[in-house]
Order: sequence, then structure tokens, then C-alpha cells
Amino acid sequence: MTAAVAPNATTRLALVTSAGTVQVSASTTTTTLNASLWRVANKRIALPSNFAPALVTSSGSFRLRRDCAAAYGSLRQAAARAGHPTGFTSAYRSYAGQLSLYNSYVRSLGRVGADRQCARAGHSEHQLGLSIDLKGSVGTSALAQWIAANGWRYGFIVRYPRTATRVTGFEWEPWHVRYVGGPLAADYARRKATALESYFGLPAAPSY
Ligand SMILES: [Zn+2]
Repeated sequence: MTAAVAPNATTRLALVTSAGTVQVSASTTTTTLNASLWRVANKRIALPSNFAPALVTSSGSFRLRRDCAAAYGSLRQAAARAGHPTGFTSAYRSYAGQLSLYNSYVRSLGRVGADRQCARAGHSEHQLGLSIDLKGSVGTSALAQWIAANGWRYGFIVRYPRTATRVTGFEWEPWHVRYVGGPLAADYARRKATALESYFGLPAAPSY
């Protein structure tokens, strides 16, 4: 095994036992952490600037981790079969891309204004390659409702629901889904969890 990660909130991961139940563990290694489907990035926990997962092109210029891309294919097909076609508005975002976007907001709006519109570099979970913004999954649309009810079957959770904005630090984003894998998503749904932070026993992250 590789060197242990310094103990901090990012090392707290859920582990699925052989019995299929989900357990939360407080320690892991850099390798395990980098490969994890359960890494948390939020306004309190940043991803390193050199964190760049291996990606595949899912569609056009939209890139994702391979496991997430495969699950997205199943999700999209099932949604289409249910009468709710969708696609990408956003997928992977690099640290450099986040930094450049954030800085452009700072130049036009100042730091306070920028923080309202855009995540600071390293604080967007799109950097994980496990997050997708789904086209048309807005408000209480039929697609958004279908995603909220069925996303877990394909390993996805709605990461920023309306009821958890004070915990996640993000406004309601019915279009933003996060791939966490089937077992965790099923457990998350069974427990009616609304935020990864509270699910993993991490502090709320309402602000930087
Ligand atoms: Zn998003």
C-alpha cells in the first residue's frame, strides 16, 4: 500500500462490505482516495490542483471517468425509455479551467460576487469526473422528478437538493448528479439521505 493520507475530512470514505452493506471508514491511502467513487469536494474540502482522474470522452467534448460514463449511458437510456430524453450540459471540469473561470468572474464582479456565481478552483466536484449536469433536468420538470426518484438505480445521487442547501453550500441544482456507484446510491436512497456531508458524518459546508 502507499503512504497514508494526512488525516482530514477528505479521508473519510464509505466502504461497501462483502455483505453489500455500507460502512464509513476514517482512513485510507492516496491511491484509494484518488480512485474512490466517494470522495467529497465542497466549500470546506478542496481537491488538489494536481488531481486529474483518468477520463474517457463520453460525448462531444464531455469527459468523465470510465465507470461514470458507462453508468450515465444506462441512466440516459432508461430516462429516454421513460419518455424523458436528456444529455449533457456539463461534465468534467479541470482545476485549471475552474481557476480561469473563477478569475474571470472576480475581474468582473469582485470576489463576493464571484463566489455567488462560481465555485473556487478545487471546490467543484466536477473535477472528480463523476458529476454531470443533465440537460433539461430543471425545477420540477418530469425529467428532474424522474432523476430524483430513479437516479440511484444507476448509481447516481442528486447532489444539491432543495432541502440541503445549508449543508452542501450550493443552491438547489436538480440537474447536477453525482456518480457514487450502485451500492452506495441504493443505501443513500434507502436512508433518504439528502447530502453526502451528513451521510458521511462530515461537517456542513455552507461557506468557504
Ligand atoms: Zn454541476
